[in-house]
Amino acid sequence: MSFANLSITEALKKLSSGEATTKDLVEYYLGKIEELNSEYNALLFVRKKEDLIKEAEVADTERANGSTKKLLGIPFILKDSFMAIGTPTTGGDSYLKDSMSQYNATIVEKLLAEGAILIGKANMDSWGFGSTTENSAYGVSKNPLDKERVAGGSSGGSAAALALDFATFTIGEDTGGSIRGPISYCGNYGLKPTYGRISRYGCIAYASSLDSIGPMTRTPEDLLTIFNILQGPDDKDMTIENFTTNNSQLKKRFVYSNSFIPEGIDEEMKRVYLDTIEKFKKAGYEAIEMSFDSFKYAIPTYYITAMSEASTNLSRYHGSRYGKLNEQLVANPQAFKDLNIKTWEDLFTKSRTDGFGTEAKRRVLLGAYTLSAGYFHAYYKKAQKLRNKIHKEIQEALKDADFILSPVTLSSAVKIGSKTTNPVEMYLEDIFTVTANLAGIPALAFPGGKDINNLPIGMQIMGNKGDDEKLVTIVSELLN
Ligand code: GLN
Repeated sequence: MSFANLSITEALKKLSSGEATTKDLVEYYLGKIEELNSEYNALLFVRKKEDLIKEAEVADTERANGSTKKLLGIPFILKDSFMAIGTPTTGGDSYLKDSMSQYNATIVEKLLAEGAILIGKANMDSWGFGSTTENSAYGVSKNPLDKERVAGGSSGGSAAALALDFATFTIGEDTGGSIRGPISYCGNYGLKPTYGRISRYGCIAYASSLDSIGPMTRTPEDLLTIFNILQGPDDKDMTIENFTTNNSQLKKRFVYSNSFIPEGIDEEMKRVYLDTIEKFKKAGYEAIEMSFDSFKYAIPTYYITAMSEASTNLSRYHGSRYGKLNEQLVANPQAFKDLNIKTWEDLFTKSRTDGFGTEAKRRVLLGAYTLSAGYFHAYYKKAQKLRNKIHKEIQEALKDADFILSPVTLSSAVKIGSKTTNPVEMYLEDIFTVTANLAGIPALAFPGGKDINNLPIGMQIMGNKGDDEKLVTIVSELLN
């Protein structure tokens, strides 16, 4: 029996018809992990086989007893930024190496309550900082379609794990494109939801006004299944709003922009973008060309905002609460002396110097600088003004349209090492994705086509706030 690349819908069908058991499914995925994970470095942690088999058996019994849980027996993988009891949560950095989760993130609670089975945790750029997983303290995740290329980032492990068939779906986090970039490099579907629709409680914070959590799946319908389970109020995350009836009416009109395919852009990307515009037109949409004046400000606005917030969020890692050094000092107070830690400042310096990787240090320094008294107005304040401008322009564009169509990345998956020498070059890779985070709107990435090397190229549709479900419907209908 073949379990290859099952969607959630297909897996549930197999389970409910009795064609397969959860145990079969779990064994299939564990076999795949055993065979391929060391080669691709998608997962940082896999739960024990005996625990998983036990959980699978419980799920099978529940099914036999008529359970109606929506994801009963469906295996999934989490980006390593989510707390899940019984698993370490490292955030991809060595600061939290081997740190065990103290509680379950709200999304984990919700998935487990519906019967889903957590297989393991996926590699990521440390703290979510990056677009290729090359900033992970645990090595790069390789692209399942070409091992010389990256899987993308920062949720690269989650995207690779899905493409390698290690689970039926995976979960990512997206501050400026970390779900959409890697899912496009690996050829599947990803949703960055409207800001405030899915609780972030229990997810390591990167930039709190931008962070969003979303599903990575093999079909648009699966995105909706997971989104429906994850979305909604949570007493533990005050940014959650009630959006349930907010989807706007279909206008059959979309916006595209020639500024998204400037001179010099990858030819294959341009071809797929133009093809996708035609596909939507054939499906009965009116296409409106629009230029975005604020597009050129998106990257600096995003990086100033994200680094400022990151430097604040990372200030909690100072050696007295989390991480290896803290554990060492709690276990053996003599270590204070041995390590020459006499003041709080010594403690902060030691824990952060030893614990953070290069990119984290760069961002903490730049973020602290842009927030500092003398430069706050010149950088952070200015970035917030530009953020408003970007937001207004997007709102204006979406007033009479269902979505804005753009590419996700500048090209198909890049070669390992090709973007690591100059950090700014890496930042520029996020040009198409950061706007949705800055504006707080939903954005869905889907496979638009393939390039000459047969590598997937992703397209993105961005919609009005609260139109998450509508975006899924639009893409499903386009494919059918
Ligand atoms: N590549 C972007 C950054 O480094 C986005 C990361 C993310 O979405 N977590 O900030």
